[in-house]
Amino acid sequence: MSIRAPEYVTRIAPYQAGKPISELAREYGLREESIIKLASNENPLGIPESARAAMTAAVAELGRYPDSNGFDLKAAISKRYGVAQDCITLGNGSNDILELAAHALLQPGNAAVYSQYSFAVYALATQETGARAIVVPAREYGHDLDAMRDAIDADTRLVFIANPNNPTGTFVAADAIAAFLAAVPRDVVVVLDEAYNEYLEPALRFDSARWLHDFPNLIVSRTFSKAYGLAGLRVGFGLARPELTDLMNRVRQPFNVNSVALAAAAAALGDEAFLQRSYALNREGLARLQQAFAGMGLEYVPSYGNFVLVKVGDADAVYEGLLRAGIIVRPVGNYGLPQWLRVTVGLPQENEAFLEAFARVLGR
Ligand SMILES: *Cc1c(COP(=O)(O)O)cnc(C)c1O
Repeated sequence: MSIRAPEYVTRIAPYQAGKPISELAREYGLREESIIKLASNENPLGIPESARAAMTAAVAELGRYPDSNGFDLKAAISKRYGVAQDCITLGNGSNDILELAAHALLQPGNAAVYSQYSFAVYALATQETGARAIVVPAREYGHDLDAMRDAIDADTRLVFIANPNNPTGTFVAADAIAAFLAAVPRDVVVVLDEAYNEYLEPALRFDSARWLHDFPNLIVSRTFSKAYGLAGLRVGFGLARPELTDLMNRVRQPFNVNSVALAAAAAALGDEAFLQRSYALNREGLARLQQAFAGMGLEYVPSYGNFVLVKVGDADAVYEGLLRAGIIVRPVGNYGLPQWLRVTVGLPQENEAFLEAFARVLGR
């Protein structure tokens, strides 16, 4: 006798996360403090102090369930983005928002469209509903929006767009996204995943929440895991018109965001100084890494996020060599990019330590 799971579940390739520091320390007998992790696009500054204070206060109330509706955090988001509270969905990370959209909208027989080399969770969220994936070939490692529009068929209910994209770091300008939204049928929901929005230069940023007025089929997804430095807490949010927000709320776990996370996120949202430091540090580190890669004659994809995709050839060997040096980066063979590594921007001294080890491992 064996357990019978749906074929669409047994076919799923589980998500491959960046190697945890504790695991590398165990496996290679290294001290955790000596390890540099540039593998998961985390904020090298760690958590904002404003969030730490809010979390400490929230711990006293952990005997109680969280506010299922997350009133305080929604109020803060509402104020910050100028959207009504009934347009906000809170998520256990923005990963949760992607899954809520999939669970609310997809069933076997439906399809979701996303790009080759786009975020791995789009495939997972699609597959776990039994829907079909329509994977559109990338253009220069980024989204080919014309081809994605053409790929939408009668079964399609959902489109995922990461902007900037992970793992390639590419970016699509506002006017191209707006033209895409205008061309998509109104019964096809577009998830615009802006996990790295805060790292964009001010000139490239655009207020996608404004598009909710024009597009009842739009979900904008944001996270506290990257520039806000709260990856371990798991908080993100989605912005969409009330009809769509209501659908996602129906498939949501009642207490999907814990109370410590709710408090920390509300505090971090108002911490402009921290965001500014995160942004500035990233600009500097990104330029440094890209400049070094260019200097080494390595191909890389110019990035709009807090990471760079660089072509190294035998990526497994280079990854392994870096691990031995106590540095964790991210192999992306599971994305169909077996010759590349994705390197997250770290603190200046972490970037330098990485570059030194990297040059050594590559024999340059
Ligand atoms: C990191 C990332 C997220 C954020 O995930 P969380 O669940 O919010 O931690 C979402 N989308 C993309 C493209 C990402 O790279």
